[in-house]
Amino acid sequence: MAIVIDRAASAAPRHPEKAHRPDSPVLRKPDWIRVKAPVSREYAETKAIVRAHGLHTVCEEAGCPNIGECWTHRHATMMIMGDTCTRACAFCNVKTGLPGPLRAEEPDHVAEATFKLGLAHIVITSVDRDDLPDRGAGHFAATIRAIRRASPDCGIEVLVPDFLGFREQSLVAVLEAAPDVFNHNIETAEHLYRRVRPKGDYRQALDLLDRAKDVWGRLHPARPPLLTKSGIIVGMGESDADVVEVMRDLRAHRVDVVTIGQYLQPTERHLPLDRWVTPEQFRRFREQGEEMGFGSVFAGPLVRSSYRAEEQRLAAEGGSRAVAH
Ligand code: SF4
Repeated sequence: MAIVIDRAASAAPRHPEKAHRPDSPVLRKPDWIRVKAPVSREYAETKAIVRAHGLHTVCEEAGCPNIGECWTHRHATMMIMGDTCTRACAFCNVKTGLPGPLRAEEPDHVAEATFKLGLAHIVITSVDRDDLPDRGAGHFAATIRAIRRASPDCGIEVLVPDFLGFREQSLVAVLEAAPDVFNHNIETAEHLYRRVRPKGDYRQALDLLDRAKDVWGRLHPARPPLLTKSGIIVGMGESDADVVEVMRDLRAHRVDVVTIGQYLQPTERHLPLDRWVTPEQFRRFREQGEEMGFGSVFAGPLVRSSYRAEEQRLAAEGGSRAVAH
């Protein structure tokens, strides 16, 4: 999993693995990136529900710039299996270390919170759990089933890690539980993986997305095809041509929905920001994605994988294809 944030706080205790990195100043944001302060009553209510159930959200862990808007609409993205990741991606603000044991009650707590929030669509993601024999696939499945029991009409989207070395078994476990959207973020261009996502593998990420369609077809032959989705972060050293190439690779692996958003360097110890992509360029990416045949393209400076996720799904399902933000 990968998370981009907008927080310029000291990273020392949170990111011990990044302590050796040289400082890279966090640059001032351009005029077109403006974030509203989270002040609404609905925001406070969403926060209260999340706290009451002892849950982690990627919205908070990542310091996501959209939290005011999303939580006002009660859209919180739940991060299961703890707040500590076994990976240390250069751009991500989730802390790295050895995570604690799984909480067996967590799936029910997520389901209760989803019910109380009254959501029509929920995104469930997780830290990477390379320490677990099944890489956390069983916990994802239990969470999907618990939400389905509590909120049968709620759309369920899973944003999963790459299940390092356990792709097939993990896909079967997660897809047997029948999520509505299967998401794995590709994040960046292949040539940047070593620097940006050192424990990841670009080709395996593409294969995971492609293989998910086949596994779904075998498990659920009577259902419509699985909706798959992926996200790209720009500003981490890629060129415009790289972004287009990643989109082409995603389409070649049958991905239906793509999101493209700006990298916001979390702290001085994170990967330095390489460039600000203009709204005009995001529009061009969107048009290029449309031409490639994606069911939905969300592209814009503050677009995140889970941003207005229900709209992304409906656009892909309904054939209204692309949205720029
Ligand atoms: S974009 Fe996603 S991570 Fe950010 S606040 Fe909205 S739901 Fe949370």
